[in-house]
Amino acid sequence: MIKDPYLVICKSTNHMLRAAGLIEKQYAHQLVPVPAEYGYICNTAIRINGADVAAIKDMLAAKRVAVEGYYRENRRPLPGLLGRLASLALSENILSIMGKIEKGMDLQKGELVTLLAATGQDMEAVFIAADMLRKELIGDVVDIRAAVEFSNYCKKNCTYCGLRRDNKTLVRYRMTPGEIIGIAKEMKAMGHHTIILQSGEDPWYTTDKMLEIIRGIKRETNMRITLSVGEWSRDEYKLFREAGANNYLLKIETSNPERFAEIHPDDDYKTRLEHSKWLKELGYITGSGNIIGLPKQTVEDIADDIILMKESGTHMIGLGPFLPAENTPLDREKPGDYDLSLKTIAVARIYLKNVFIPSTTALATLVPEGLQRGLEVGANTIMYNLTPPQYRGNYVIYSDKAVIDLEKTVAAVRAAGRKVPSSLKI
Ligand code: SF4
Repeated sequence: MIKDPYLVICKSTNHMLRAAGLIEKQYAHQLVPVPAEYGYICNTAIRINGADVAAIKDMLAAKRVAVEGYYRENRRPLPGLLGRLASLALSENILSIMGKIEKGMDLQKGELVTLLAATGQDMEAVFIAADMLRKELIGDVVDIRAAVEFSNYCKKNCTYCGLRRDNKTLVRYRMTPGEIIGIAKEMKAMGHHTIILQSGEDPWYTTDKMLEIIRGIKRETNMRITLSVGEWSRDEYKLFREAGANNYLLKIETSNPERFAEIHPDDDYKTRLEHSKWLKELGYITGSGNIIGLPKQTVEDIADDIILMKESGTHMIGLGPFLPAENTPLDREKPGDYDLSLKTIAVARIYLKNVFIPSTTALATLVPEGLQRGLEVGANTIMYNLTPPQYRGNYVIYSDKAVIDLEKTVAAVRAAGRKVPSSLKI
């Protein structure tokens, strides 16, 4: 937990990466989007404890890291929100919650449930509040990141996932460490600063192979590395971290232990929480997320999901609708509700404030304009796919998955009236 938070904002992304590398060796920290009022210098800030500011200042000055400034982070009100909503006919409950948001007050679980259940003009107010807050806290630049899905083998059998081991119809593939490092070099040349490595839980990638991949990417590109490769042992997480991995996405999918057990026959709820805790202790920036529209899920469950993200200090929050995958136990279930998926993004932004929330491929699969719409209701990130075309069609977590490439990503960003990072060569 960061106390009396300060933001370190550097003069460029390269200096931010150097600063983060130095700070993470000794001090608690989190990487967060740079708030809008600082202008677009580097789009990531380093949040540190107030008590560590003096020591970190000295350390970064000694290492000649160019820092724009050290700023105390305030919880800020959202002036003008009620005025902006004046033309809407809002229910008393929503009006009262909007008043609290305008004043910068914390919301309770019951209020999150009310926001998630909002319809009509009430729902419109939730979207407007989330979008205003996103603009106020983060600004208009959308953080665009690229993922490579390097293996679709999986030893687990999650009931919602097309990669599950019992899906014998899926054509399986694996990429070699050399192929993966080659994609990382392409990403670097395109102006990306982070690579997302995603796969099923595939034992072919031993600890040594993973270390070869992480070290190779660091050596060849010095990019930040996000791992989304399932559960490993604490020692392995530590080795990956020491080899250069920075972020770890380990989604919980639902914070309701019964629902979790139903969809994850090979996993244990408490173990998943423990792994997330280990990852934080080891200095990873952590990511999680939920599926909206799982069988038997309630809006109370979704409110609990969002609260869990805050309690666990999660900074990358992937929220996407449930989409049925063929040849899985849930293949006849209905897809998640589009409006509820958008409201979940919006409520997460309102409650969690300064975190990375992607507008997801799942949203774009459910509704073609979903990618743009997610950005309009609180999202600030898009993760698009750079898996080579010969493999891409077989990474089928759910059926009819939309292909989101850089072109579609940039089109959605522009259609939403937002900005593309200046570092991207497009
Ligand atoms: S959700 Fe992940 S762990 Fe579960 S079957 Fe799919 S790829 Fe494997």
